[in-house]
Amino acid sequence: MRELKYIILHHSGTPATNGINDPDGKQIYEAICRNHHERAVKEQWLINYVEKGREEDYIVDYHFLIGPTGKVFEGQPIEMVGYHCGNKIMNLESIGICLLGDFEKIIPPQIQIDALIDLTIDLVKKYKIPIENIKRHKDVVNTDCPGKYFPYAKIIEEIKNEMGKSVEDYQKEIEDAKTTMVRLGIITNFDQKEVDIERLSVILNRLINKIKSTGGAYGY
Ligand SMILES: [Zn+2]
Repeated sequence: MRELKYIILHHSGTPATNGINDPDGKQIYEAICRNHHERAVKEQWLINYVEKGREEDYIVDYHFLIGPTGKVFEGQPIEMVGYHCGNKIMNLESIGICLLGDFEKIIPPQIQIDALIDLTIDLVKKYKIPIENIKRHKDVVNTDCPGKYFPYAKIIEEIKNEMGKSVEDYQKEIEDAKTTMVRLGIITNFDQKEVDIERLSVILNRLINKIKSTGGAYGY
C-alpha cells in the first residue's frame, strides 16, 4: 500500500448533472471515467504513474467523485495512484476527491458539501492524514480548481469541529436533549433503550404540536 499523506479537493469544472434524467450526476461521473481511462490507455506519459501492464485497470484520476445530491461515486481504487493534481509527488501520496460541478460559476449545494465532509473525516481517520494536509488543487499548482465558490475554510473548520468532539461532548449533548424533552413534556422517561418507529412518530408528533402551540418558539 502506498503512503497516503494528503487529500486533494477538486471540482469537475463541468455541469454537475446531465439534466433532469441525471439527478445525482451519474452520467457525468461515467463520462469523466471514460475520458480518463481512454487517456491512460493511450498516452504513454501516464506509465510513470500506472504500474506497467495495469493501464487497463486505470479508472479515473480521482478516488472519489461526489454528485450534487451528495451521492459518492467510487473512482480509482485507493491503492492505485490517480493523476489528479499535476504534481508527481503529491499524486503518489494523495487521495483525490472531485465534486461534480463548476464552482467558478455556482455555489455547491450544502448536501454535496456535507457528503464531502463526512467522506473526508472517514478518510482522515482511516489513513491518519493530518487535517492541515487537506488541500485544494489550487494549493498545489496554479489552477482555479476547485473554483472561487468552493467553501474551503468552512469545510476545514467543520472537519476540525467534528473531529474535536469527544465522547464526553456527545454524552453531554444527549443529557441536555433528554432534560429539554422532559421539561417540554415531549417525553416522560428514558427507560426504553430502543426507540421503534411508532414511538419515534409519537415523540415527533408531540414535538410538532408543541412547536405549533408556542407559535414556533420552544419556550426554553
Ligand atoms: Zn482539480
